Amino acid sequence: MSTEFADLNLSESVISAINDAGYRDPTDVQRGAIPRILDGLDLLGIAQTGTGKTASYLLPLISKLSNNRSRALMPRGLILCPTRELALQISEAFKIYSKNTKLTDLTLIGGNSYKDQEKAIAKSPDVIIATPGRLLDHCSKGKLLLSQTKCLVIDEGDRMLDMGFIPDIKKILNLLPAHRQIMLFSATMPSELELIARQILVNPFKIEVTPQGSTSHDIDQKIHLIENVPRKDTFLKKGSHLHSIIENEMSLKNSITFCNRKKDVELLARLLNSKGIDNLALHGDLTQTVRNKVLSSFLNGNTKHLIASDVASRGLDIPEVSHVFNFDLPVNLEDYVHRIGRTGRAGKTGKAITICFEREEPLIKKIENLIKQKIDKRHFLLNNSPKNQTTDKKNPQKESPANTQTYEETHKSSADKPWFQTNSHIPDFLLNPSPYFKSK
Ligand code: AMP
Repeated sequence: MSTEFADLNLSESVISAINDAGYRDPTDVQRGAIPRILDGLDLLGIAQTGTGKTASYLLPLISKLSNNRSRALMPRGLILCPTRELALQISEAFKIYSKNTKLTDLTLIGGNSYKDQEKAIAKSPDVIIATPGRLLDHCSKGKLLLSQTKCLVIDEGDRMLDMGFIPDIKKILNLLPAHRQIMLFSATMPSELELIARQILVNPFKIEVTPQGSTSHDIDQKIHLIENVPRKDTFLKKGSHLHSIIENEMSLKNSITFCNRKKDVELLARLLNSKGIDNLALHGDLTQTVRNKVLSSFLNGNTKHLIASDVASRGLDIPEVSHVFNFDLPVNLEDYVHRIGRTGRAGKTGKAITICFEREEPLIKKIENLIKQKIDKRHFLLNNSPKNQTTDKKNPQKESPANTQTYEETHKSSADKPWFQTNSHIPDFLLNPSPYFKSK
């Protein structure tokens, strides 16, 4: 019989909250991390979202802090994460797990008013959940002291590295007391991060729940390779292809489409809207209020399709996404793993389709090397008809009849979209500025 929550030494109040949340058994990362965090060890957790990693640090943190709750004037726990969305999500989880305690949390993220945040800091929250830049702003203004903050969680370490947050994190470490406990979580462990982990963690307990760069086996991955077109035509060509997929994928319930550029997120969102596919755009140039609204509309099912930059590729726990589409190959190939990890979560199956041009095949090979897995490929000609082949030569029987037809051929409904099936320039109406952009 495997370990149960009751065996992990968590406080009664936490056990009762996780019972209410409907969790029956701890996940692997929770089994490994919770006892060590309760013992006060530093921890290096290599775990993707979807593994239960947030609870693996929140549950012991709440247990520890609620057991000896002194009326502290300064925060005793700090959780650093790279994006505002992830911070809000961690805060929600904190509230669920701490509901039977008197602990309070405060989220400090960019995009919200400094004044309001200062007032909230003055109320002495027990735990702060923050993005590094905004936290440092408050510290440097003298509004926030971290000299009693003995527990630090750094979530999504690899993303922090990619986003250039490591210098900020080092500054924050200098503000913490000398005796502190640090828990570093990351989906992948690039060598630069490993070096930092060695510098900041003291004899850490290491737990790895997914091999580095691995992808879930519950994700049906496909590459759609389109015959090369001139670069000026790539957007519309891929847009046309994506539109066909969305219209015709049988099992599609909802989707996230990733683009590399914010501009393309906006353009694609408008392109699909113009074709009757309701969707919302999510990227870092939108105001925080709009980002929150977009995310909750997607989470509550009002919006079925999200077009996003990599702001949504990591950390966010969006349950039950049936499809992930890569409109572009990610610039950082490791982001492929994060992007497609939005589907096939918690035992559900999902599908990830990457749309690219034949000239990008060398990059596909690199992704395959990274994930140590061949991805099933279909070639499409310029008129959207398929080259009748699969590159999974070892497994030719995998080629299903559907592979020999285009989406348009199989489903006539999408064949009457003349303007964006042609290789024309992007029409003016798609280029109008969005009212939702942050004023600069
Ligand atoms: P995370 O990996 O932290 O993003 O968590 C992924 C999802 O798993 C969240 O929706 C959690 O609510 C859920 N979860 C975390 N731990 C458990 C558990 N032990 N049993 C069931 N669901 C869990």
